[in-house]
Amino acid sequence: MRLGFDLGGTNLAYGIVDEGKIIEKGSVKLTDLSPEAISNHMTKAYVELKEKYTITAVGIGVPGIVSQLDGIVVKCVNLNWVMVPLAELLKEHIEVPIVVGNDANAACIGEVAFGGMKGYHDAILLTLGTGLGGGVVAGGKLLLGHQGAGTEIGHMIISSGEATCNCGNKGCFETYVSATALIRKYNELGTTHVQDAKSVFDRLENGDDVAVEVVDWFCEHFATGIVNLYNIFAPEVIALGGGVAKAFPKFEARLLHAISNRLFTNDLTYGKIVEAELGNDAGIIGAAYLADYQ
Ligand SMILES: [Zn+2]
Repeated sequence: MRLGFDLGGTNLAYGIVDEGKIIEKGSVKLTDLSPEAISNHMTKAYVELKEKYTITAVGIGVPGIVSQLDGIVVKCVNLNWVMVPLAELLKEHIEVPIVVGNDANAACIGEVAFGGMKGYHDAILLTLGTGLGGGVVAGGKLLLGHQGAGTEIGHMIISSGEATCNCGNKGCFETYVSATALIRKYNELGTTHVQDAKSVFDRLENGDDVAVEVVDWFCEHFATGIVNLYNIFAPEVIALGGGVAKAFPKFEARLLHAISNRLFTNDLTYGKIVEAELGNDAGIIGAAYLADYQ
């Protein structure tokens, strides 16, 4: 059995994972965000759980740039961490192998190992929430890049840009393809406002003209990003996760049509687009299995 941690900016979730299933879960609300405080929470969870389970490995997903092969969190804005040697801090107290990785990469591994992309060797997860995160598995291995800084898919620049991204650039994929983008665009164009992305898709169902325009805009840019990913990685499958993915059946036909207009060649079978299956558990499950894909 393995212990997976999903570290967020306010919460540390963890679980004992056995054959891709979480058999015991826990979480800690974070007040002190220092590496010492958080590594102490992790150690405590490990020590408690190893009384009940035989833990053979520990994996941790962190919301930032992680040099996975070194176990170092290079930068995590939410926690205000720079160059934190998390694996080293934990090794003093945890005697089994520890892998520290990026949280979106962990979710991708969860989906490849046990979820919507199970069995594929070339696979991409796109998680659409307030931003757009993702991970790439190429030839059966997680693509990390130097210092683990690769596959920041949400910051792939797909246009000269409308809105400014959190990263300071314009034209980033996530400024078109995320819940935040859908809400912003609707509220720019509409005379009434929405608070969440679900409302945009609900209004689409009701034939609201602004919602139609916004979802078309979303799908056109989504298709541009996906075709870039097709041309660079040639995935067999792309899974969509996160809150916005729940509306996939409502925008699937529009998205596939927009993609078909952009394909490099019609002589190839490009990756199918599916829904992710593990939901919020993907992070914990995938973290526990990061070691198998590096
Ligand atoms: Zn950006």
